[in-house]
Amino acid sequence: MRILVTGGAGFIGSAYVRRLLTGAEPTLDVDAVTVLDAYTYAATEGALDLVRADPRLRTVRGDVRDPALVDATVRGHDIVVHLAAESHVDRSITEAAAFVTTNVVGTQNLLDAALRHGIRRFVQVSTDEVYGSIATGSWTERAPLDPSSPYSASKAAGDLLTLAYHRTHGLDVVVTRSANTYGPYQYPEKIVPLFVTNLLDGHDVPLYGDGGNVREWLHVDDHCHGITRALTHGRAGGVYHLGGTTELTNRELTDRLLAACDAGWDRVRPVADRKGHDRRYALDSTTTHRELGWAPTTDLDNGLTATVEWYRDNRAWWEPLKPRR
Ligand code: NAD
Repeated sequence: MRILVTGGAGFIGSAYVRRLLTGAEPTLDVDAVTVLDAYTYAATEGALDLVRADPRLRTVRGDVRDPALVDATVRGHDIVVHLAAESHVDRSITEAAAFVTTNVVGTQNLLDAALRHGIRRFVQVSTDEVYGSIATGSWTERAPLDPSSPYSASKAAGDLLTLAYHRTHGLDVVVTRSANTYGPYQYPEKIVPLFVTNLLDGHDVPLYGDGGNVREWLHVDDHCHGITRALTHGRAGGVYHLGGTTELTNRELTDRLLAACDAGWDRVRPVADRKGHDRRYALDSTTTHRELGWAPTTDLDNGLTATVEWYRDNRAWWEPLKPRR
């Protein structure tokens, strides 16, 4: 199987590529993996160091917004796993254009190329944020899309295009929508790596609003395995939720990160809330459990402890990514 992974030098994409090439996804017979990545600020060379010498890996430095390059890169593959995206909500509030061009037009370029080159399955990796915010209960896959930020609106548009290529052209697609993901090699602007690296450096951490926003947390390995299950067992045209193991307010998450870094609440600096900040996300993953046989296996406490250890041990990776103080 020849697999194209877009965004394969970013957080989740690189974890997926590492897993593909180290036998962590044994149900996939991996002949070749191509990474297509524009190497924006969010990508790092180091994230693929572990597998760089594998002769099955090829890296294409290129932009999904370039249709000619996308066409040439997609050709010769069986599967596309599409993770390339502008992914940080805060940036989408001030610089929405790149979100629309990458997450919407880039996705359309890939879908067109997938059609032309007879791709057997296209996996669109998406997010719970497309549903907006939910006060109680949880979303099924049929919940209306009601995104709040330019990021989530652009992801929702990418999802709808993906599903439309299935209905219109019969392209074999699946869409995964996952909870907040954490683990090694996450760019230190998202809450877990931002807080951990700030704390390890002796700095404060900025907590939005009253800290009461609720998120489900999913370890990156569980997320990646969910992508594989959707790839191998998903219904064509299906949407699959990859829910987290544990629901936490940002205050509760902060509490755990402080404890793991031997720091106290005196290190927390309340800051004005993010504009349009969704209060709560919650995915119902019943269909995914039933149809894909997937459930997350990494307990949040163990996963967070291991993640903090990883950032402690891998300063050389993240230090150059932090702003100078
Ligand atoms: P990331 O920002 O760490 O990585 C994104 C990658 O895409 C980077 O390597 C970047 O260089 C690349 N990229 C950006 N624009 C590109 C372009 N125009 N052309 C080619 N490559 C480009 O993001 P991530 O957290 O790894 O997220 C990966 C995917 O998973 C995204 O589609 C995101 O929406 C989705 N997702 C993420 C989470 C999460 O909690 N991190 C949760 C659910 C879904």
